Amino acid sequence: MVNRQHTRILILGGGFGGVYTAMTLERLLKRDPSVEIGLVSKENYLVFQPLLPEVISGSIGILDTITSIRRLCPNTSLYNREVISIDPKKKIVTTSSGFQPRPYQLEYDHLVIALGNITSFVGQPGIQEHALPFKYLGDALVLRNHIIHALEEADIETNPELRRAILTFVVAGGGFSGVESVAELNDYVRAGARSFRNVNPEEIRVVLLHAGPLILPELPEDLARFAQRLLQRRGVEIHLNTRLAGATAEYALLDGGERIPTKTLVSTVPSGPNPLVAALPCKKENGRIVVNEYLEVPDYAGVWAAGDCAWVLDRKTGHPCPPTAQHAIREARCLAKNIVATMRGHPKQAFAYRAIGKLGALGRRSAVAEILGVKLSGVVPWLLWRAIYLMKMPGLDRKIRVATDWFLDLILPPDIVQIKTEKSGGIGREHFEPGEVIFRQGDRGDRLYVIVDGEVEVVKEEFGKGEIALARRGPGECFGEMALVSDTPRTATVRSRTSLNVLTMHREAFHGLFAHFPLLRSLFQQLIEQRIHVPVQFKGEHHAETGQD
Ligand SMILES: Cc1cc2nc3c(=O)[nH]c(=O)nc-3n(C[C@H](O)[C@H](O)[C@H](O)COP(=O)(O)OP(=O)(O)OC[C@H]3O[C@@H](n4cnc5c(N)ncnc54)[C@H](O)[C@@H]3O)c2cc1C
Repeated sequence: MVNRQHTRILILGGGFGGVYTAMTLERLLKRDPSVEIGLVSKENYLVFQPLLPEVISGSIGILDTITSIRRLCPNTSLYNREVISIDPKKKIVTTSSGFQPRPYQLEYDHLVIALGNITSFVGQPGIQEHALPFKYLGDALVLRNHIIHALEEADIETNPELRRAILTFVVAGGGFSGVESVAELNDYVRAGARSFRNVNPEEIRVVLLHAGPLILPELPEDLARFAQRLLQRRGVEIHLNTRLAGATAEYALLDGGERIPTKTLVSTVPSGPNPLVAALPCKKENGRIVVNEYLEVPDYAGVWAAGDCAWVLDRKTGHPCPPTAQHAIREARCLAKNIVATMRGHPKQAFAYRAIGKLGALGRRSAVAEILGVKLSGVVPWLLWRAIYLMKMPGLDRKIRVATDWFLDLILPPDIVQIKTEKSGGIGREHFEPGEVIFRQGDRGDRLYVIVDGEVEVVKEEFGKGEIALARRGPGECFGEMALVSDTPRTATVRSRTSLNVLTMHREAFHGLFAHFPLLRSLFQQLIEQRIHVPVQFKGEHHAETGQD
């Protein structure tokens, strides 16, 4: 460990909470050489999440929602690493390794925890595997690409059932982020469809699922009803009092048992605690760290928390502050002042903030807002929304870029180019409900499956005889290897018998391992010989008729 001469304030998290703490500290400390400000973040940029839904429609560019942390906080040491553990007793934070497989340890005198929360799908079968989350910059890019891919597929698909599923887009969560996302998605997919010769906008179905009786529960009822009616007029089908209960590659499963066939499921709910926060031995409420009025963690001296991961009591209402950017920024500023006050022996100030309003964009020049008790809907709050967010956007260069994007978006048609970002496949996870076909005889062998839990049946379809049952496979067994090793079409159909979770390995990854790892090759050789009772000839060689998968 380095012998430090200065006080180190270490901030964890490069979101609104972390970055605004660093910015305020820089302003207050004015390059004081006795203090080092350090910030650990997985990304080297701050994402302006309120504008993220606009990335879906491309009305602003993907890079225009982010700002470099180094530019915002030039006097802060940025550790562009992932935090892997916090030891508040020893006052040490350990980060992931970089180019060398060596973790990095950072001591601190003051620690600011601003790690946000995560979208957590634990306990909902298939959602982790098949729903697209919407929280980070990468999520917005993946979703936009996926929508364009769906339109491309629909343009050439002739099977009516599959077309319906491809052109059905489901968003779960009727809070601000879900409503703003569904509004942008709906506008984009309907406008974009005009550039596809074989996609009729009438075929498009956009569905919003919301667990409560009215969307946007954060807003007064009449504004929420206005937003609901407007979205419905624009073609969004809203299912109220409906929860997303599960998902497969083929459909979204609702809690009442209804299944919506879809190839696009977006989930903005629910939020869960960051695993690092969950592991911290301190008092928590709803997974958030309980702090006192000065934003200190009472269990540990010198530890502070702000933003979505902190449980900050609003002393006027008696409720916790909501997880919003507005609150994260105010908490960060107050907390930074209190750290400096503590170092200088000055009195600390209690956190107090009353938001002056709430704004929600609904796409195509409309929004809803409640500002200082005044309720607004339509184009006026939309202009206000854009003006406010432009003002709040950190960095002059980003303000100019966003303003230019918005101007161009008024006069140009929506962009429908897809940016392919996928690397050749690796390991994935998939979930199936009982009775689903995982692959069919004659399909291309595109992946190997390893059963985590559940059971499948392997059947062969023989002309004139129907289906012949060949085998059953359960946890710890694999299937789908034959078509991969022999590079021929699937020789059997595999169907889930029960609810099923599998690990999948894409053919490229499988072939890479297979080619360079002789042990794996002989293991699969033995396995296949056991299954078909015939010596096996691998890829490129003539292979025996097997009747296996
Ligand atoms: C789509 C969307 C729209 C929204 N719209 C609005 C809006 O209009 N108005 C509003 O006020 N709020 C809005 N919000 C909410 C707002 O964005 C959050 O409340 C705010 O970002 C919280 O800030 P934070 O710093 O606490 O957390 P975050 O912004 O989540 O930042 C957490 C940071 O910690 C980093 N991190 C996490 N784990 C680790 C680790 N192990 N190692 C290193 N770094 C780590 C993350 O990478 C991230 O940089 C929206 C949110 C979303 C998702």
